[in-house]
Amino acid sequence: MAIRNHIITLKKGEQVFEAGDEADCAYIVELGIVGLYSKHFKDSRIASLGRGELLGEMGVINNEARTVSAFAETDIELLVIDKEQITKRLQNSDPIIRGVMDLLLRRIRNLLNNDAYKGLVMDDENIVVTEGVHKIRFEKELFQAFDDNEIINVYQPIVNLKDGSIAGFEALSRWQHPEKGMVSPFEFITLAEESDFIIPMGLKIFDSACKQLTVFQQIRNKSNPLLPALFMSINVSAAQLKAKSFLDEIKKITKKYHIDPNDIKIEITESQVVDYKKVLTWIDECNAFGFKLSLDDFGTGYSGFLHLLELDFHTIKIDQAFIKSIDTKPKSMVILEVIADMAKRLDMTVIAEGIEDKNSADKLTQIGVDYGQGYYFFKPMKVEKLLTILR
Ligand code: C2E
Ligand code: CA
Ligand code: CA
Repeated sequence: MAIRNHIITLKKGEQVFEAGDEADCAYIVELGIVGLYSKHFKDSRIASLGRGELLGEMGVINNEARTVSAFAETDIELLVIDKEQITKRLQNSDPIIRGVMDLLLRRIRNLLNNDAYKGLVMDDENIVVTEGVHKIRFEKELFQAFDDNEIINVYQPIVNLKDGSIAGFEALSRWQHPEKGMVSPFEFITLAEESDFIIPMGLKIFDSACKQLTVFQQIRNKSNPLLPALFMSINVSAAQLKAKSFLDEIKKITKKYHIDPNDIKIEITESQVVDYKKVLTWIDECNAFGFKLSLDDFGTGYSGFLHLLELDFHTIKIDQAFIKSIDTKPKSMVILEVIADMAKRLDMTVIAEGIEDKNSADKLTQIGVDYGQGYYFFKPMKVEKLLTILR
């Protein structure tokens, strides 16, 4: 995929594309005015597009030549949208939507080729697809941020509740945006999951988490050689599990850094393994290699117990919701006790996340939860800060 935050500039009067050209990309107008012209209307202007508007998408969507010609009416700046940014989404969309889209485009093409309908076509009124344009721009920014190393990992320590020592970390990704500050993974991971971009991004996240673990482990070996090796929990989403090469790649990364796969926990969110049959082989292969699998957000999905029955997870990560309500809902303590007891009998490890106060930490320790994670102990931190804590 040719991924570049690609802005092109054209002088007034220059041509963007010509009717009949191959449609290899689309554009968003960033600056100035672009005029669209059709031969069939005696070369008259059928639309003029300003900032934030999309052009050249038609040919890209149904893989046909340009129907109209586009010229810079003023000096202009255009953001180039890769064909795959659009086609990938269409491939993933509902077949009915795809069908309707195809039909509409054919109708528009027919209109553009028919003089009699000139009055009906666009004129100076443009279809503004603001939300889609915003998303595509944000996606372009994300591609660039990735190339510029603005996507980084922060690490949140996970504490052994029995003795209070740091047992491991969860790698959480952040986008250090030059203007917006830290962008939440909820925003950009979801976006990356919509395209294949989650694959290269996920591998880079995995790679830097592994590299970091070797540093953390070295420090621990010097300062506290008797404690068990530190582990690293890394989030992996369903879109990554589906990619054939992903598992091979993460095995390679683990070997490259000479990391014991037992020290890597792969966190998969419960709601994403709804179709357990699809992830069964993946999970078996992970276990065979030595990775430990952790069922994230336990208790929030549709079939948590079915997952435990059918898939070999090593760790249960109890969702924050149960921990947050320890003081307000008596039921939550019962649920937590049952999960802790069940995990012990299934020979599984339990991590409780979202622990924000001493009272919750104490109660979770009493009922035998192995590990705790939350603001009460540590917030997610940048590496520099963590290194001083570890030392
Ligand atoms: P998650 O895996 O459930 O991660 C735990 C979230 O809870 C993190 O949010 C963490 O900062 C937050 N948290 C930790 N302790 C506390 C606490 O005491 N109180 C409260 N209120 N929150 C706490 P974050 O970092 O914003 O991540 C959000 C989600 O984004 C993650 O939820 C995970 O699903 C996803 N995510 C983050 N990094 C990655 C990644 O590298 N790859 C993938 N696929 N997903 C990621
Ligand atoms: Ca997680
Ligand atoms: Ca979680």
